[in-house]
Amino acid sequence: MIYFVFSSSACNLSCSYCGGTPEDLHMPEKPQYDAVELVKQIEKDEDPVIVFYGGEPLLSIPFVSQVMDLIPRATFVLQSNCTLLHLLPTPYLLKFSAILVSIDGRPQTVGEYRGPTIYNKIVRNVKDAKQRGFTGHVIARMACSLKTDIYEDVKHLLSHELKFDSVYWQLDAQWDYPMNIRWGDFEYYLATSYIPGIQRLFAEFKESLLNANGDFTKMLSISPFVQILQSMVLNKHTGLRCSAGTKAVSITTDGRYLCCPVASDEDWNNIGTLKDEPKSVMDKVVIGGICDTCEDKKWCGGRCLYANHTMHWKEEGFKIICETVKTIIRMCEDILPDVKGLLADGKMNLDWFDKVPNERYSIETIP
Ligand code: SF4
Ligand code: SF4
Repeated sequence: MIYFVFSSSACNLSCSYCGGTPEDLHMPEKPQYDAVELVKQIEKDEDPVIVFYGGEPLLSIPFVSQVMDLIPRATFVLQSNCTLLHLLPTPYLLKFSAILVSIDGRPQTVGEYRGPTIYNKIVRNVKDAKQRGFTGHVIARMACSLKTDIYEDVKHLLSHELKFDSVYWQLDAQWDYPMNIRWGDFEYYLATSYIPGIQRLFAEFKESLLNANGDFTKMLSISPFVQILQSMVLNKHTGLRCSAGTKAVSITTDGRYLCCPVASDEDWNNIGTLKDEPKSVMDKVVIGGICDTCEDKKWCGGRCLYANHTMHWKEEGFKIICETVKTIIRMCEDILPDVKGLLADGKMNLDWFDKVPNERYSIETIP
């Protein structure tokens, strides 16, 4: 299972699309429970993946270190803005299998969302982590919001000196309502920027596969494309890819269990407390509604439990987002025969897909 542990609900940044304060997150700033209580529950799991989450998780380095010391066999993942990464002592840094770096693309995009000095801090600290010996996955985790040019921002990260193992993004959509309260004209953005952008990205992804000639490093590591294609090649239908409430639980600083780390104050999302065995609270809230009758659920998985449950943009807005997902799925289907041909000719190996960090490391995959 995946355990999203809120080590701090406070954040040292104030990003434009985020409500990441203890008040917004409806929980105390620091863990109020004993780390031993948390580890007692996780201990029962043969293959635990612990994701330190926030707020900014590195505002609580002593707590993070304590958990790591108590259960060293776990797989550790950090989702962080990385502006405090230099403060994480090296022995703990090296225990992480993956760092999901919150970086939205080009310096100007990061500057718009996170502040003018943040891009350079991220780059400096991730470089420093690599110099200190970090060899785990470094994953670029983008918010795709009002200032994002998805093509330009993803391209920037794909050729970045930090050599990200993969790039993925989350659409800043279906959190607030009505649909255009911040976006102004979301459909116009999709039609003129986002959809053409992902089509260009996909064309380049396809090119990179066709010309890789057996060399994995030539394949563009764009997360939704790789993971959806993998599912299609293996003909393996997916569940909710972020695993919220099915294989993942979030633990608030006051020891509550949530399906999804967002919306800690909503009753439906509160599924237990540290007194409960995490496995026993899984599958209490599952994807339903429109997704149940969608022919693409097998590849999409339902995209987002929070959006599926809250339907903030009503059916009309929900379906607009689905069209973006379906665009990606159709593009993957279109190149499936080519990919199968490459596999049959030995110009590509199935293990290429697994070299790109996947949902095990808490990647939501579907934008
Ligand atoms: S494409 Fe839309 S309706 Fe279909 S499974 Fe995904 S989120 Fe649900
Ligand atoms: S994709 Fe949706 S349900 Fe999953 S973790 Fe993110 S907000 Fe929660």
